[in-house]
Amino acid sequence: MVRFSRRIFTDLAIYMMGFGFAIGVVFPFFMMLLGMPTSYTMQPWFFLVCIIAGLIVGAVNILLAKSVVGSRLHLIADKMKRISGYISSKTHEEIIATCSPQECMVKKDSDDELGECAESYNQLISDLYASFQRETMVKSFSKLLSSRLELEDLAESMLPVMLEYTGAEAGALLIEENDELRPAASFRLDGVETLKDKDFIKRAAQGKKRITIELPENIAVEGVLLTFRPASIILEPVVYHDVVLAIMLLAFVRKPSEEAQHTLDLLSPNLSVAIRNSLSYDQLQRLAANDSLTGLFNRRFGMARLQEEFGRAVRNSAPIGVCIFDLDHFKLVNDTYGHQVGDKVLVFLSKIIRSALREGDIAMRYGGEEFMTILPGASMIDTYQIAERIRHMVEESEFQYGSQRIRLTISGGATSWPDFDATSAEILVKRADESLYAAKEGGRNRVAIL
Ligand code: GH3
Ligand code: MG
Ligand code: MG
Repeated sequence: MVRFSRRIFTDLAIYMMGFGFAIGVVFPFFMMLLGMPTSYTMQPWFFLVCIIAGLIVGAVNILLAKSVVGSRLHLIADKMKRISGYISSKTHEEIIATCSPQECMVKKDSDDELGECAESYNQLISDLYASFQRETMVKSFSKLLSSRLELEDLAESMLPVMLEYTGAEAGALLIEENDELRPAASFRLDGVETLKDKDFIKRAAQGKKRITIELPENIAVEGVLLTFRPASIILEPVVYHDVVLAIMLLAFVRKPSEEAQHTLDLLSPNLSVAIRNSLSYDQLQRLAANDSLTGLFNRRFGMARLQEEFGRAVRNSAPIGVCIFDLDHFKLVNDTYGHQVGDKVLVFLSKIIRSALREGDIAMRYGGEEFMTILPGASMIDTYQIAERIRHMVEESEFQYGSQRIRLTISGGATSWPDFDATSAEILVKRADESLYAAKEGGRNRVAIL
């Protein structure tokens, strides 16, 4: 069709007026064919009236078209302008918060091309909205992950959010540690400790790919998920550079939507980086705090812990015991069996000491073959008894190395605040050291208190 201007409604007006004019011109001839007398129809004034009537019909048509079609197009254009204004001036989070369907969508009130146009526009807006929502979700998930460095803290704060985003009702995060999967967090699952031995978990870890398991209604998940019977389970291996760092289990009452799978696709890479960072942090922390041979606290970290515990004991007026142990004639062990065997003896001894302590007690490698225990809550007599118990355990044990059986003894120096009125942790340690010296002087294989 020929275009006369750059405005559709102007073109339409020209066509309609032209058509009205043409109808006005041919109308008298129709009338003549229908039998109206030519003396009447062929009069110039009759032509004029018909043409005016045709032009009026054309003008009314264009006004109607403008008000019916134009107003709807106007509405869509207005909304589009508003959305584009939002996109350039607001954050995606603000758009999600302000852009309600009433605000941003148009009502589809016809089944024709205009209705189709409104529907397509609404679809576009809802896709845009969903994509903003996803982006906001990824952003806030990343923010959450980056605010947590400790692995347990990360796992526990991440899991409920992951459940919310995917619509899962229960879940767990198992972290790969020393070739085992250890539950770091779980929600609404019973017996998570046994999960690591389940075939489906092993399959997910080996395959390094997501596994979705559909469960018929009458199947309980091998006694694991006791509080809750799922219809589907997703196992998501959290992989970093082809290494499985963790397995995330998500359990759904109903089959998970495609959206849930898509959400996992989006969030999983962030999670793997965060877990990788946490593991590094964990290792760094451990390296900074632990003695590499025995795994006990090293002297620097152990002494810092002693300062804390001593301060707390004084504040709470609760006793605190300190013992220092030293292997008797250890030089002889090294000289007879070699330094490597000597190292193994130190590991052996550290295990005995650790096993004799309660939770909350602290063991550290104080020096070469010297160990210290910090015993919050232990009076002088308690400290002596615990030290004596450890000494006895060492005396009774036998270190085996190949066919060699090595008998060991230790000496210990014990003290406790406030039975010994130390004004600082250093003075308490000095007293324990003097006591140890007294034990050595006294003939070794004994615990001394001064
Ligand atoms: P005592 O304490 O009963 O007086 O005799 P000792 O032989 O244990 O005492 P001494 O302090 O003379 O020797 C301590 C030995 O501990 C010397 C050192 O080679 C050894 N030692 C210290 N650290 C380590 C270690 O990390 N590994 C091994 N294998 N030996 C160590
Ligand atoms: Mg020594
Ligand atoms: Mg010694």
